[in-house]
Amino acid sequence: MPVLSVEGLTTNYRTLRGWVKAAENVNFDVEKGQAVGVVGESGCGKTTVALSILKLLPRGGKIRRGKIIFDGTDIVPLSDKEMRAIRWKGISIVFQGAMNALNPVFKVGDQIIEAIKTHEPDLPKSDARARAEGLLEMVGVEPSRINNYPHEFSGGMRQRALIAMALASNPKLLIADEPGTALDVIVQAQVLQLMRGLKEKLGLSMMMISHDLSIVAEVCEKVVIMYAGHVVEYGEIGEIFKEPLHPYTQGLMGAFPSIKGNKQKLVSIPGQPPDLLNPPPGCPFYPRCPYAMDVCKTKFPESKKMGSAEHYVSCYLY
Ligand code: SF4
Repeated sequence: MPVLSVEGLTTNYRTLRGWVKAAENVNFDVEKGQAVGVVGESGCGKTTVALSILKLLPRGGKIRRGKIIFDGTDIVPLSDKEMRAIRWKGISIVFQGAMNALNPVFKVGDQIIEAIKTHEPDLPKSDARARAEGLLEMVGVEPSRINNYPHEFSGGMRQRALIAMALASNPKLLIADEPGTALDVIVQAQVLQLMRGLKEKLGLSMMMISHDLSIVAEVCEKVVIMYAGHVVEYGEIGEIFKEPLHPYTQGLMGAFPSIKGNKQKLVSIPGQPPDLLNPPPGCPFYPRCPYAMDVCKTKFPESKKMGSAEHYVSCYLY
């Protein structure tokens, strides 16, 4: 049984001009011990999916349809109080931006201890401190740095400290929102290596959000490609790298350099994603797609399974 099944998730934001259709009929599973990447341009709905799973949507955000089955229970109907018991202990998140996610006026160790004590208030402070030191060590930060303030940490160490906080309550599912963004490439590679190691060591299930397909390929077994709130392609990462089917995925792959293959010109995807207040009918990639046909304007194409491996695509070419 998957740790997480997202089934037909539709999340919109209410605005004065109408509903912003941020996520439409999103489907994917995260199996135990596996990592799934959610990839797409800014505003494609990937963070909305993560915030829907945590039920931490900003004002105006509403899950309008679908199920989020975590550990066998649909969490969509749960109250705030019930969700508080699931957040951090069941599903935890490493937020984007290591600089802003830590409180600058508290010591890093105290922030990790607070995260532990929030869910285990009866744990003696000395035990919580020992656990915080163990967590820092696990993420590759010298435990003696427990008394440092965030400004005394490098960007990579702050990112590691955030991962330690997210692991404080032994969650079943870790959501990482753009890990490594704003870090230099060497530190980013170290953070990804850490995440891969933690997944293997702790048997963690993970959902990793990124705009960069190559980052996701470092850690994940499966990938969900999102465009304008829709899942356009989904499946095993090796299959999708071997044969990207959706024209948007092909465009994403053409936008990244290959260090192994021959030198080739990088190609950007012309145009902009649509306004999600008034998305075009049919396939939202239509205005940018080099293969667009009349049928593409009619309705969003159904997801089709391709071949024997787990590989789904929503496109009228197939
Ligand atoms: Fe292009 Fe049509 Fe496929 Fe959309 S459905 S990606 S417009 S070919």
